[in-house]
Amino acid sequence: MLLGSIEAGGTKFVCAIGTEDGKILDRITIPTRTPDETIPEVIAFFRKEKISALGIGSFGPIDVKKNSPTYGHILKTPKLPWQNYPFLQTLQDALEVPCGFTTDVNAAVLGEYVYGAGKDADSCLYVTVGTGIGAGAVFRGELLEGMSHPEMGHIIVRKSPDDPFEGVCPFHRDCLEGLASGPAIEKRWGRKGAELADEKKVWELEAYYLAQAVVQYTMILMPEKIIIGGGVSNQAAIFPLIRRHVREMINGYITAPAVDEKISDYIVSPGLRGDSGIVGGLVLAKRALEQAG
Ligand code: ADP
Ligand code: ZN
Repeated sequence: MLLGSIEAGGTKFVCAIGTEDGKILDRITIPTRTPDETIPEVIAFFRKEKISALGIGSFGPIDVKKNSPTYGHILKTPKLPWQNYPFLQTLQDALEVPCGFTTDVNAAVLGEYVYGAGKDADSCLYVTVGTGIGAGAVFRGELLEGMSHPEMGHIIVRKSPDDPFEGVCPFHRDCLEGLASGPAIEKRWGRKGAELADEKKVWELEAYYLAQAVVQYTMILMPEKIIIGGGVSNQAAIFPLIRRHVREMINGYITAPAVDEKISDYIVSPGLRGDSGIVGGLVLAKRALEQAG
């Protein structure tokens, strides 16, 4: 049996065909233009093979409430051609298979939970630090969702007194995403993150903000693992800095070994490297098929 998976991002769509045990057999990358340009290519790719179900992890914000009239739509995105686009419906109508639909980070956390760094845990959280910051969490196999999907990139953080940067979030300016996303790093320091590898102060400040996020996620949710992915996390040197700040900020209040001597197993890189989202889409597809009976 073959399953389909889409990781829909702001710059590219990754589409894959894989198996029910999470193996990718074929994949293509399609640039994100307008829906009229991109979606027909996506559909053509999946029509080549007989897939039994499809899982979609999409950039957001999206409507994930199954009883909502706009379930499966992209909502108020700055990518105007995609605003109000009935993403799920269009693919379901074209491919006529059960489809799962969630955010890109929710798909990623599912992939990591089932096959990656979270596979031995009952709960885990995945945060991506890239063009934006977003996170998803799984508890006992279920994605965390309330009235909508979480927006954990837009939490309010304490500014470092040494950081005069005003932030880049168009909604909140100096929320976590506004201060610590890839574009925030680039605007603050005048160069892309990848070119700043040797600048210690860049990563010290970045770790200070990401550690605050980890502490907040920890205090609120107590996941068993926090996985940090996305382009900025390619700076491997940031992990020890984040762990050190997290320990200092928690200051002994939580006695679990995960935030103390075992913190290297608590704050980790993705087990599936860059494939968390696309493999997670296969998990979503499998679940959609099971639900459809
Ligand atoms: P997206 O979030 O668009 O899906 P990425 O996760 O690759 O894509 O994130 C892109 C962002 O990550 C850009 O702002 C880029 O400058 C930054 N980035 C990519 N590689 C690195 C790196 N090695 N070190 C620091 N920042 C990086
Ligand atoms: Zn924000």
